[in-house]
Amino acid sequence: MPVVTDEDAALEAIGTLDNLSAEQQQALDAINAILGDGEPFVDIHELFGHYNVLYFRKLLLPRVEVLWSPRLTLCAGICELSRDPATRKFTRIRLKMSTPLLQYRPRSDTINTLLHEAIHAYFFITTSWRHTRGNDGTGHGEGFRLLADAINSHGSYEVTIFHSFHDEVDSYRTHVWQCSGPCKAQPPYFGLVKRSMNRPPGEYDSWWAKHQSECGGTYTKTQEPAPTKKKIEALSMKERAGRQKNKLDGWLKPKEKSSLENKLSDVSDGTKEKLHADNRVPEGPERAKDDDGTSSPASNAKRKADAIS
Ligand SMILES: [Zn+2]
Ligand SMILES: [Zn+2]
Repeated sequence: MPVVTDEDAALEAIGTLDNLSAEQQQALDAINAILGDGEPFVDIHELFGHYNVLYFRKLLLPRVEVLWSPRLTLCAGICELSRDPATRKFTRIRLKMSTPLLQYRPRSDTINTLLHEAIHAYFFITTSWRHTRGNDGTGHGEGFRLLADAINSHGSYEVTIFHSFHDEVDSYRTHVWQCSGPCKAQPPYFGLVKRSMNRPPGEYDSWWAKHQSECGGTYTKTQEPAPTKKKIEALSMKERAGRQKNKLDGWLKPKEKSSLENKLSDVSDGTKEKLHADNRVPEGPERAKDDDGTSSPASNAKRKADAIS
């Protein structure tokens, strides 16, 4: 079987837009009715079903599960790949949309994000999961641009190759480490690593070895998120019990990983990263479970999931 590239798959999808089938026309009518209804919110599941027919050759359902994630804070949307635990082959995609980043934005941002992630999902499925980050390291290569452009001009969307909610992303990413070495004078990162979770830079980051040899500095934590109301309440309860210090230490210290966990993340570092088109700080792979506000029986498979955003 010939290898299908992102570009081939893009052209195939674009080809269906010249003469819409009756089914595609129905989907288009339904989409236009939704987009014209003037409501501030949109049902992403309903919309996704129509886009699946109109733009993606009906290949996304049922393999792609669309869901809102309350804990996805690093990017507006993400495709998380799951393997079949038995065969170790990729079989499914969870397309997650960030509740915190999208809930207060115009619904066009939700729609454009949904389409952006749907394009990634389409390439994963049509290229036998070969859709990767491409030459520029972002997963938004020629094929992605072709299809995004076609969809944009077909439906007047604004799907970009960026996930451009800088301010929101930054305000949620509030653990900060500063490097002491020469890289602190170098753009674009100036030795800063910002993360939404308390995971200090270390060997499990794909860029760690490179940084060790090229800079050699050490990272010191310079910023933590303000404790939440819940945490303060928990603290004062502990205080009454005379155990505040323990609690505080436990909370400030980076979580120790078990050796098995370390092994797992070492082995899978190369494939487990999520891609952030607009990262302004060197960002290693975040563990899937940390972004995940959902739970399911398949959570073990999910922990080893690959993801792209
Ligand atoms: Zn450095
Ligand atoms: Zn993307």
